[in-house]
Amino acid sequence: MRAPPDDAPRFEALFGRPPRVHARAPGRVNLIGEHTDYNGGFVLPMAIPQQTEVVLAPREDRKVRAFSANLGAQGQVDEYELGQERRGRGWLDYVQGVTHVLRGEGHAIGGFDLWLRSDVPVGSGLSSSAALEVALLRGLREAFGLALDDVRLALLGQKVECDFVGAPVGVMDQMASSLAGGGAALFLDTRGLRYERVPLPAGVEPIVINSGVTHSHAGGDYRVRRAECERAAGLLGVAQLRDLSEQELPRALTLPEPLGRRVRHVLTENARVLDTVRALRAEDLAVLGPLLYASHASQRDDYEVSVPEIDLLVDLARAEPDVLGARLTGGGFGGSVVMLARAGKGAAVAARIAARYTERSAHKATVLVPEPQQGL
Ligand code: ADP
Ligand code: MG
Repeated sequence: MRAPPDDAPRFEALFGRPPRVHARAPGRVNLIGEHTDYNGGFVLPMAIPQQTEVVLAPREDRKVRAFSANLGAQGQVDEYELGQERRGRGWLDYVQGVTHVLRGEGHAIGGFDLWLRSDVPVGSGLSSSAALEVALLRGLREAFGLALDDVRLALLGQKVECDFVGAPVGVMDQMASSLAGGGAALFLDTRGLRYERVPLPAGVEPIVINSGVTHSHAGGDYRVRRAECERAAGLLGVAQLRDLSEQELPRALTLPEPLGRRVRHVLTENARVLDTVRALRAEDLAVLGPLLYASHASQRDDYEVSVPEIDLLVDLARAEPDVLGARLTGGGFGGSVVMLARAGKGAAVAARIAARYTERSAHKATVLVPEPQQGL
């Protein structure tokens, strides 16, 4: 969703009283480590400046009344009773999923009035869904005094999406939204949920450009990739692809097409995350860029999750000497590209790439990082 229109009514106007709790959570961009989280592997996301904000006030009864300012003046207040959550109500499923999962895990909550807004674009590989889940869970944690740490909160968000919304996602998005920030990347081992914050070297800055081609996770392609990985793991006799070493790749490549290539992406991508973390720590800029480009090629050729518009953005990045590397970020089939550029060059380079892309494609590119300055 784009930044909410100005004509959207505020909390007080809708509910006739002031809100009690304000909470927020960021979208995320994944630097490297794509489609590895549901295979028990490594990821390296960062928070982006765009975020989802919730304001809410508890009610005396069991009712939930919810409004998204992104829907503008035409939007309506949707409502349901706690315990009566029913899937199939569009965006309200994320809210219903949160209350359903919280109650299912024994957390005592009452009814509430909810207003939210977001400037995380929807379906653009930057995880507006996790930003919504984490922001709402933070708001309810505060409003009802729930005993939830940030990791537990992220796991509940993932459960909302998998069990209620019906999108079988890994844990990266919610962990990033809940734990990343401060300009550092979050190096996460999705198997043990061990994480470390890895700062970017002073010489580089990230760029994020949205291609304007949207995806849907609940849609088929993501599920197909996930199922292919599970099938390959089963045929290779391991619980998850994480359990395979690179020495076992030749055996994986004897699997029926396209399973071998899917395994090759996951194994090489896990190795690239580890190499990227080492390069960031060593401030080895010469190594970083080729890792991002190699990740993109692997997503395009072996995992087959790219689209021509995304490939165009990566090619335009390649023509810029101040870009170190670029790749598709997020689940794919559209979405955004992440790049690492020389510090101080990001804004100019990103604007040039976006303008060239918009000229050459049927879609409009939007620069999200570095955040465009107000009034420019
Ligand atoms: P993404 O990659 O952005 O997470 P998803 O398909 O996983 O894409 O989630 C997008 C969905 O999340 C939207 O279709 C909508 O139902 C919900 N959503 C996200 N942000 C908002 C918002 N600000 N207001 C209402 N619904 C939202
Ligand atoms: Mg999502």
